[in-house]
Amino acid sequence: MAAFSKVTPKIVDELRAIVGSDRLLLPNDDIEPYTHDETEDYVFTPEVVVKPASTDEVSRILKIAYRERIAVTPRAAGTSLSGGALPVHGGIVVSVEKMNKILEIDRENLVAVVQPGIICQVLQEEVEKVGLYYPPDPASRGSCMLGGNIAHNAGGPHALKYGVTKDWVLGLEAVKADGTILRTGGKLLKNVTGYNLTQLIVGSEGTLALVTQIILKLIPLPALRKAVMASFPTLEDAARAVTRIFFERIIPSACEFMERQAMEVTEKKHGEKFPVSGGEAALLIEVDGTREDVLDEQVERIGSVCSDAGALDLILAEDSSKLAKLWKMRRSIGEAVKGLSAYREEDCVVPRARLPELMTAIREVCARHGLTAMSYGHIGDGNVHVNILKLNLPDAEWRTRIEAATHDLFVRTVALGGMISGEHGIGFVQKNYLGLALSPDVIALMRQIKSVFDPNGILNPGKVFPDA
Ligand SMILES: Cc1cc2nc3c(=O)[nH]c(=O)nc-3n(C[C@H](O)[C@H](O)[C@H](O)COP(=O)(O)OP(=O)(O)OC[C@H]3O[C@@H](n4cnc5c(N)ncnc54)[C@H](O)[C@@H]3O)c2cc1C
Repeated sequence: MAAFSKVTPKIVDELRAIVGSDRLLLPNDDIEPYTHDETEDYVFTPEVVVKPASTDEVSRILKIAYRERIAVTPRAAGTSLSGGALPVHGGIVVSVEKMNKILEIDRENLVAVVQPGIICQVLQEEVEKVGLYYPPDPASRGSCMLGGNIAHNAGGPHALKYGVTKDWVLGLEAVKADGTILRTGGKLLKNVTGYNLTQLIVGSEGTLALVTQIILKLIPLPALRKAVMASFPTLEDAARAVTRIFFERIIPSACEFMERQAMEVTEKKHGEKFPVSGGEAALLIEVDGTREDVLDEQVERIGSVCSDAGALDLILAEDSSKLAKLWKMRRSIGEAVKGLSAYREEDCVVPRARLPELMTAIREVCARHGLTAMSYGHIGDGNVHVNILKLNLPDAEWRTRIEAATHDLFVRTVALGGMISGEHGIGFVQKNYLGLALSPDVIALMRQIKSVFDPNGILNPGKVFPDA
């Protein structure tokens, strides 16, 4: 474990001179929100929280941290499910919440230029007002910020047709650990000028540089959406139906999976019912486009595929209010399930055709370790969120069982050609499993890249890389 310096009163004074007293918090202030993220029950207290409002302020803060070898944890909204925003070495939390402006919506080039503290849904709603679309939409889009989305390369329901965050990032402004300001890319759809540093920083989980400005691609907003929701006898039946939809040569805009128990918890919490019942699982499959007749034909065909695959109950959501209600319920599942008890959310991703085997593996691993899981996720991408619940297990028993079950589930996932995280990142929680998915040579190369960007290892330490 690298040794980091403490934040002394003199350093606090230097930081205060940069951001002012109203944008600096100490442990005896209201610092609690910065001690955790949405990951399980971990709590780490930072020595100081600063909230810069400009790139220049970020650069000056990092120059001090670099000079003094103080750990720095970049933070956006703190909705990470992998412990990415936890200040595990104390030090300085740099919150980008005050860098929350949409700097430009450029309708000629179809790009938006934004600061990292903008909430994802706020950007989406602003661009929709002028008929444009920014598709990456994590289920947390109402609270997560674009800085966090970039750092985790966030996905979401519409990644199936439109890709994940990386597919929408054209350029970045980012500050290296030593305070150097980098500018990469531009308002360019094509650019092979040098190494693609933009895409190296996207998904680097705040370990390479702190992102201060983002250039995002936009597209025209699809005018129409329709959906099918169907329930299936078993998890495997639902997973098999997914691959059959693609045989129809239809790319749905979203294809979401919900295990029955997770649906029931959500229904109870919100006092509203999903419109399909029966069976172990359901799929919500959406198509989008501009022509009503084309979408009508596609939902009919998807409905037939689901029936042929054994659907027990099926509805077509052809008007926007019905669809909005379905999405509201789907987006509420995570919170409802996580409200049941302490939990660990695994973020397995496999090639789509191996999904039925992943479903079997989840069931077998949880049964072997005496654990309860409720799964849901972006199954069209091969991505399933497995929420393993602590329920009434004593703490020590839970820790032992969850680590063993996570290990076994990841081994099975990798054996299916999968990876241990599809969209939540490795962060703090999964770092010691990285070696199950990546070879020692790949991890060594990643460490070398990290040390080029951040030779003192001050940026988001204790994340991504396995403990020595
Ligand atoms: C209910 C729920 C549903 C979710 N659904 C999805 C989903 O559908 N898809 C999905 O992908 N994720 C999902 N997530 C996970 C989470 O919302 C995403 O990972 C999101 O991208 C995190 O954004 P944030 O603003 O909360 O970032 P934070 O949690 O604050 O930080 C995340 C990471 O980004 C780094 N970081 C933050 N800002 C910067 C910056 N400016 N520069 C460099 N690094 C930075 C942090 O150090 C940390 O490593 C969900 C979470 C919840 C609680």
